[in-house]
Amino acid sequence: MANLLKGATGDWEMVIGLEVHAQVTSEAKLFSGAPTTFGAEPNTQVSLVDAAMPGMLPVLNETAVRQAVRTGLAINAQINKRSIFARKNYFYPDLPFGYQISQYEEPIVGEGEIEIDLPDGEAKRIGVERLHLEQDAGKSIHDQHPTKSFIDLNRAGVALMEIVSRPDMRSSDEAGAYVEKLRAILRCIESCDGNMQEGSLRVDANVSVRHPGDELGTRCEIKNVNSIRFLKQAIEYEARRQIEIIEDGGTIDQETRLFDPNRGETRSMRSKEDAHDYRYFPDPDLLPLDLKQEFIEELKASLPELPDERKQRFISEFELSTYDAGVLVADRETAEFFETSATGRDAKQAANWVTGDLFGRLNKAGLSISESPVSADALGGLLDLLADGTISSRIAKDVFDEMFESGKDAAAIVDEKGLKQITDTGEIEAIVDAVIERGAAQAEQYRSGNEKIIGWFVGQVMKETQGKANPQAVNELLKKKLQS
Ligand code: ADP
Ligand code: MG
Repeated sequence: MANLLKGATGDWEMVIGLEVHAQVTSEAKLFSGAPTTFGAEPNTQVSLVDAAMPGMLPVLNETAVRQAVRTGLAINAQINKRSIFARKNYFYPDLPFGYQISQYEEPIVGEGEIEIDLPDGEAKRIGVERLHLEQDAGKSIHDQHPTKSFIDLNRAGVALMEIVSRPDMRSSDEAGAYVEKLRAILRCIESCDGNMQEGSLRVDANVSVRHPGDELGTRCEIKNVNSIRFLKQAIEYEARRQIEIIEDGGTIDQETRLFDPNRGETRSMRSKEDAHDYRYFPDPDLLPLDLKQEFIEELKASLPELPDERKQRFISEFELSTYDAGVLVADRETAEFFETSATGRDAKQAANWVTGDLFGRLNKAGLSISESPVSADALGGLLDLLADGTISSRIAKDVFDEMFESGKDAAAIVDEKGLKQITDTGEIEAIVDAVIERGAAQAEQYRSGNEKIIGWFVGQVMKETQGKANPQAVNELLKKKLQS
């Protein structure tokens, strides 16, 4: 197997299981009607339920249930018609109830799977153990005052889906690909916005190491990693750390660790509780959740085309490579952008423009594809001018840059700046003749066998025509004339 790590006692294999907390896209919290807008003033989105005022009762948000079932269906998972909300008891200052309402023995979604795309074009299936609904906690703020801590309860009670994978991943790349694919699915069905910087998607990585073929080793859990790059770094560091300890004769303590992005290290946070420490029990304020088959069927029928389905369609309909198709379906906006610009045109060429020039410019400008100054139709317009020979591919690059800067469409720019390709051979011939006359010495070299010097002539003609001469016509004419 690939991706083995070398150690003093032989090869090591990493074993990784991920727990993803995905904030449910919903205007209200899981058990209250308080809003969930990101970035609001502290403690302005808190109902009496979220603040755990005595006598308040939780009321389940139907949207959150729908989102969890839709997500389960999108990862081919078992939907459990009956599920139970349970109290997970622990004390934390930003958890006013003294417990979190979660699901334990009977979650809303059971076993499923996610197919990940690996860089070599291979695909691998990663098992999902369960998906359950739970409340988020509030936030303690320690950096506003020298001696005081503050609590912001805006997040308290927000609906999360916890999605727990099997320990099926064997490298940090596989872990990264898993999060990417899961995020693409969540975004596609709009059950979570997938924004890792804002904390809408948080990843806990469970990592252990073993010699291939051995039993699973003891794992450590790295909490709340908030970017895919950090996730990969944290896993790599953690696996190395464990190998060193074991090879030095030590053992791994099952513990919760934190990743410090500044130092690229993980460090111990606390020893890991076992489930029985939480004294889970069914929440007496909430009835078991019973779902009807029709409810599930209705949600299934209304799911949009999923990333993997779309990828297969792009491969068969547009003859894209697995790799290009994978890149283009990574998020819904990109897929839709590509499809609009490619339909009825050379799809491979459209894919190259989207993943090459467009992504390059967007990256540089720090814009997302939905903020692109060049729309999908506008890019299509540029491709049309290329396809019918109105402009050369060299000029197309300049036109694209101008489109990106000014937001104008391709045809307008070509008109305004007189960039139409010169295909009239008479016009090109006159210029070719003039250039050959000027370059008598170079022409002599060409005739005595230095064929590469033709590049000089092409350059001269392009300079005369500001790049507008049809390159093929120029080459053909030059060859004909230089030989005679
Ligand atoms: P907890 O909630 O206590 O962290 P769970 O059993 O819900 O425990 O899930 C733990 C996660 O750890 C799962 O994603 C699972 O795949 C992963 N995991 C379990 N055993 C190992 C192991 N030996 N090495 C790496 N990951 C593991
Ligand atoms: Mg855990």
